Amino acid sequence: MSKNRSKARSSLREFDLIRTIRNRYGRATRSIAHGIGDDAAVVSWTGRQGLLTTDLVAEGIHFDLRTATLIDVGYRAAAANLSDIAAMGGRPEYLLVALAIPRSGKNVDVARLYRGIMAACRPYDVRLIGGDTSASACGWFISITLTGSATHGRPLLRSGARNGDGLYVTGTIGDSRAGLKLLQSRRPKRSDAHVSLPHRRFLIRRHLRPDARIAMGQWLSRENFPTSAIDLSDGLSGDLRHVCRESGVGAEVQMNSFPLSPALRAYARSAGLDAASIALAGGEDYELLFTVASTVRSRFERSAARQNIPVTRIGVIRPASAGIRVSWPDGRTSPLPRISYEHFEPASKT
Ligand code: ADP
Ligand code: MG
Repeated sequence: MSKNRSKARSSLREFDLIRTIRNRYGRATRSIAHGIGDDAAVVSWTGRQGLLTTDLVAEGIHFDLRTATLIDVGYRAAAANLSDIAAMGGRPEYLLVALAIPRSGKNVDVARLYRGIMAACRPYDVRLIGGDTSASACGWFISITLTGSATHGRPLLRSGARNGDGLYVTGTIGDSRAGLKLLQSRRPKRSDAHVSLPHRRFLIRRHLRPDARIAMGQWLSRENFPTSAIDLSDGLSGDLRHVCRESGVGAEVQMNSFPLSPALRAYARSAGLDAASIALAGGEDYELLFTVASTVRSRFERSAARQNIPVTRIGVIRPASAGIRVSWPDGRTSPLPRISYEHFEPASKT
């Protein structure tokens, strides 16, 4: 990076910082000929199809240091990238981290951030091979780039869903949004007090420390079941639209079929909200949403059960002309609402 940018840094010395990061996390391996320290990293690519993804998070936009520590922020930023690789059925490999650090930022803050990033990456043996460092005039910016490879030669794409395919999700949905809401109510609301401490902890953890579904994505890809896949980062209602657009199809989602955790149900009950609607709006669950042809439905579901992979059928793919619809527990159907979680607040004016 250029001198004038580094001069803008006062409390932190850029090169010391990079040296510290390099010493701590920059260990080379056989596949990394040159990691941190040169103009670019040198890695040996294999013949497999490479995956590349990047994600930027900005303080005040994507996170708030009143409700998350820098360890959480790092963990979540890495998880968002890992989840993109999971949605392709891939294996994550190398990491680049670009940082803009506010003037108030200290060494210990950067150390915390990296602790979170590397904690999220550790289970997958992902190696840090570079990045960039700058000062910031207004808050933290963290941009993470992750490379990976398609494990079984065929990355899972958003574009293969066909009329009649079943629509599935992994795990449970809506937890992260409820966790965020709990964090945002500065003093626990009276209604939150009705949610037990273990349930509150579960929801907050699902928000602050999401697990990317790497193993599930690889299993799906290996078994070649999905016709399409995406990770749930924006929320089911938003991400399903992406699949439908890319595949040129419509869909019908059954609200009463959603996999909802006991903690989310308890939270929704105490807040006077509908748990399935929270899950539909969702956001940052980092579960996988995917489609499977109806001809292999029972084979797929038996296989997932045998492997203890939690999958739930939540709807079906329809022709594009049918649009994207939601069927409610009372039998009504309506177009998929364009929603954000806030629309479910009792006091909402929208
Ligand atoms: P250049 O001016 O050539 O971009 P830098 O001084 O920015 O070089 O970076 C020197 C080395 O340190 C490079 O290998 C770069 O990838 C690495 N690096 C810089 N900032 C970070 C960071 N925040 N985390 C990890 N590696 C970093
Ligand atoms: Mg640089």
